[in-house]
Amino acid sequence: MSDEEGEHSLRGPSGATGWRRCHGKINAERGLPDKVGREAAQGTVFHEYAAMCLMFDLEPEHFPLGTIHKVDGWEIEFDEDMQHFMHEGLDWVRDQLEPGDILLVERKVDTSPWAGPGEFGTADVIIIKVRKRRIINFDWKYGKGVPVSPVKNDQMYLYSLGAWNDYAEALFEGVDPAEIAVDFHIEQPRAQGGGGDWPTTMAEVLAEGVKIREDALATMDPNAPRTPGEKQCLFCRAAGQCAEQQKYLLGVFGQKFDDIAEDIELGVGPAFDDPAKLSLEVRSFVLLHWKAFKRYVDRIHALTLHDLKCGRDVPLLKAVTGRPGKRVYMEEHLAEAGEALVKLVGEEDAYETKLLSPAVAEKAVGKKVFAAQMKAFVTQSPGKPILVPLDDKRPAIQDYASKFDEDFDDDDDDNDDDE
Ligand code: SF4
Repeated sequence: MSDEEGEHSLRGPSGATGWRRCHGKINAERGLPDKVGREAAQGTVFHEYAAMCLMFDLEPEHFPLGTIHKVDGWEIEFDEDMQHFMHEGLDWVRDQLEPGDILLVERKVDTSPWAGPGEFGTADVIIIKVRKRRIINFDWKYGKGVPVSPVKNDQMYLYSLGAWNDYAEALFEGVDPAEIAVDFHIEQPRAQGGGGDWPTTMAEVLAEGVKIREDALATMDPNAPRTPGEKQCLFCRAAGQCAEQQKYLLGVFGQKFDDIAEDIELGVGPAFDDPAKLSLEVRSFVLLHWKAFKRYVDRIHALTLHDLKCGRDVPLLKAVTGRPGKRVYMEEHLAEAGEALVKLVGEEDAYETKLLSPAVAEKAVGKKVFAAQMKAFVTQSPGKPILVPLDDKRPAIQDYASKFDEDFDDDDDDNDDDE
């Protein structure tokens, strides 16, 4: 997705997961600041380099490392990670290409027949194979926090519809859309379980387009209802100040506003149901929503700090200085610090030399050399079992009981699949 799409397209493909599920989201976000996070800015830089590689048949190594780009107030460096994570996706796209194919890179496509007047999207890569009656829709995701599945992906539907509108409909004139294969491919190199392929047909994409049009129309109603849910609230700018979302998230934990008002009066904390007594369905529901809940609480934390900063009278809470950050030597005094420490403890004890970690070493020597000369010396502990939604592309653990004999651990907070 280009910056342009994010800035000017209200019902753009990249936000379709949100506005299709919550028709009131666009109204709720109106006027609220749209702060671009560092990860999104990194994604923009990654996309631009990847597009140049495909447009001019270059490799990421052709571009100088360390170049700094200013994106939405962030300074983003084109670094080794970007080079490294670009290769697999570039290879995948190049492997698909055959003589006679039409390759569209970073192409603005008109989605207005489905998403409304003036709406468009910028597709990362579209390959149209006229002879083979196939359209490939490829999308990069550089983010690592939330794995994205290509299955029935709203963003991919809209890019495919836009490509149909602008190019494919004319190229496939007279061909039954049910005979045209469409592939959604998401390349998400930094997120375990994210990305993958999903095959469908143009007829199915067009059928979904009818529903998308209904959803887009529904968002235009000034009184469009707000429908909270796991996916739509996660990145909604109104999250944390939306009553519907509050009710919904509190409901996940069996709480109600009235209970909370009563608890405040009594001076007690919220009473949660005993997890051991929850049904299997409720447990799964709570786990599926915990990220949305965390984001919601983080947002309340930020809003409350802001209230205190503005001099508002906040009940029950005050702001204090938190734990200071890690101590580091000042860059400009690094040499002096080194000299001083050498005088105190001697050269040998003042500095430590350690072997590069396997991940850093692999970057330094390249994947192939590392696999041939270093891999034999490397071991890795197996991953612990974690819970992910059913549409995650990783296969479920078979024969779980025989592979993991440890019982549950109440204090285990490793269940975060963000990394
Ligand atoms: S927070 Fe959720 S319910 Fe509220 S407007 Fe946003 S997406 Fe809709």
